[in-house]
Amino acid sequence: MAKGPFSLAAADVERLIRLLAKLPGLGPRSARRVALHLIQQKETVMRPLAEALADAAEAVGVCSRCGNIDTADPCEICADPRRDPASICVVEQVGDLWALERASAFRGRYHVLGGVLSALDGVTPEDLNIETLIPRAAEADVTEIILATNATVDGQTTAHYLTERLEGCGVTITRLARGVPVGGELDYLDDGTLITAFASRKGV
Ligand code: ZN
Repeated sequence: MAKGPFSLAAADVERLIRLLAKLPGLGPRSARRVALHLIQQKETVMRPLAEALADAAEAVGVCSRCGNIDTADPCEICADPRRDPASICVVEQVGDLWALERASAFRGRYHVLGGVLSALDGVTPEDLNIETLIPRAAEADVTEIILATNATVDGQTTAHYLTERLEGCGVTITRLARGVPVGGELDYLDDGTLITAFASRKGV
């Protein structure tokens, strides 16, 4: 039996909902809400979004040097001569790079690992963007590698592993300080933050 126009449209909507539900933070319920919103705002949201997605899918790729996402390879940050060539900040994900860029926290260049070592999830060094980091660290310009992996068990394990691998590259290896957040009150901090803040106290 031939499908009427309504059932065709419904199948398209179901497909849209199934795809939306794959996005981080969206379950089937919120995917349904988003789909409905898109359909109701077809000209102002849905069509521009579809075009932006198509453009991004066409243009965006991974920087072969640092693992950042960009439309150019090498990426804008790697290609920018105003960036300090002496330091490379190693992060887990592109989202971490974006966070540091938003804060204008760092004027060097980055290296995106694409994850962390994890015995539990079976992530080994071969699964991460590590092999390209070693020759970068050994380049003449580079004097400091900042390990900015997260303060999780896997993040720490990865930082230890990288410290060993980078030995002999002739660079200073540093880690981000762990401690009391700006505006943070001791009473509200979790034990882990408090303990590391205490352990990494400095002279004033
Ligand atoms: Zn790059």
